[in-house]
Amino acid sequence: MKMTELEELRKRIEEITIEMLSLLKTRTEIAQEIGKIKNKEGMSVSNESREDELRELVKKQSKEVNFDSTTALKFLNFLLNESVKVQSAESNTHLAIFLKAKELEQKGEKIIHLEVGEPDFQPPINVKKALSEVYDKGFGKYGPAKGLPAFRTKLARFVNNSFDVNINSENVMVTPGARFGVFLSITTLLDPGDEMIVIEPAWPAYRQCAINAGIKVRTVKTTLENRWEPNMNDILSCVNDNTKMIVLNYPNNPTGKILPKTLQDKIMETVKKHDLYILSDEIYSNYSNEEWMSILSYKYEKSIVTQSFSKSHSMTGYRIGYLISNQPIIEKLAKLQALCLTNVSEPIQYVSMMSLEDDVTNNVKIMNERLIKLEEICKEMGLEFVRPDGAMYIFARTKNPINTSELSEKLLNHGVAIAPGIGFGDYNEFFRISAAGLDIKTLIEGMDILKTQL
Ligand code: PMP
Repeated sequence: MKMTELEELRKRIEEITIEMLSLLKTRTEIAQEIGKIKNKEGMSVSNESREDELRELVKKQSKEVNFDSTTALKFLNFLLNESVKVQSAESNTHLAIFLKAKELEQKGEKIIHLEVGEPDFQPPINVKKALSEVYDKGFGKYGPAKGLPAFRTKLARFVNNSFDVNINSENVMVTPGARFGVFLSITTLLDPGDEMIVIEPAWPAYRQCAINAGIKVRTVKTTLENRWEPNMNDILSCVNDNTKMIVLNYPNNPTGKILPKTLQDKIMETVKKHDLYILSDEIYSNYSNEEWMSILSYKYEKSIVTQSFSKSHSMTGYRIGYLISNQPIIEKLAKLQALCLTNVSEPIQYVSMMSLEDDVTNNVKIMNERLIKLEEICKEMGLEFVRPDGAMYIFARTKNPINTSELSEKLLNHGVAIAPGIGFGDYNEFFRISAAGLDIKTLIEGMDILKTQL
């Protein structure tokens, strides 16, 4: 090819790129306008049916112009994610409410925190003992990215005893909390343009991690009327060539749901059939008040389970958790962990290892008592909800649905913080009440205030 021809082609590439850039700018500005309207109307940022329409349009157009539709759909995923990013800045999540509540507290206001999922229990007693020992024991050096070998061995034993499975230390990696485990799994195993299925309502970080990594989230919406159980057809209709992962979180934040075993079996069949990764966030597993089965029981090689000491051992600020998967996946994830943080703090690993010997069942009992009391109050108030099977929350709505983003703002001025439903998906009529951090007396006080504003 002659230089002049090459230069000509490069010039055209340049022009097209610049044209695409200005179109992207216009598209982003329009998305921003749509975001403002959605926020005002209490609508969710993502809209699956609208996205499906666009997807169909792109598929049709690709066919017409004879262009590879998988590439076109990946490009669309990029555009959709950009829209979600600019629109998400407008919405009110439980974290936003928590931060506003903290600001009010700084000014001397008293706030009852019904919005956060942070247990108020002291960490188990062995933590105190281990903290006093750790200095003399000399833990405090750089260590292996996957975690202290002795800790990984004990974790494997702990998992085997707790969940009736058979893993070994090579299947375990220590992480600084389950959040980082979720981030590592999504960021490492998926590529930009890939798709990931999230069943909503859901903890917002799955979606946020995906968006951060340029991965498209396909939402399966569940309803109170269907007892928060996903419909298999809805799941199947999200699966395409770009789908790489499905995320499960049972017992669920925010609904407290545990899936019936038959439904979980069906989801696993689909996951295996389509060769998907399954990321199962099981951090509320010990707060199960009904029968619950870990995804590990299916012995599927593309499963990743995230666990944490935050809720089970009331060690939120210690930032410690772990991942369970097969060895090749652990190796991949360990590389990014090594890159990001070398290793999880050794003293904290030691302390957490010692806490595995503590009995935390009393915390579970207390949490369940609080949930039972909360249920009773919610029923008296005429709220609609499905009785939680576990975790530490009630996800409710009023009989005459209201905009809970506005309600949460209003309640802050009356000294109560709640988590608006919009933070968990398209659930602006719902709100999450947490039993995690308050004794029954304060829970009642908070709910009494809530009652006056409904
Ligand atoms: N997963 C879920 C479902 C959660 O609700 C939370 C915290 N609220 C986390 C993970 C984060 O846990 P960690 O503190 O271990 O990062």
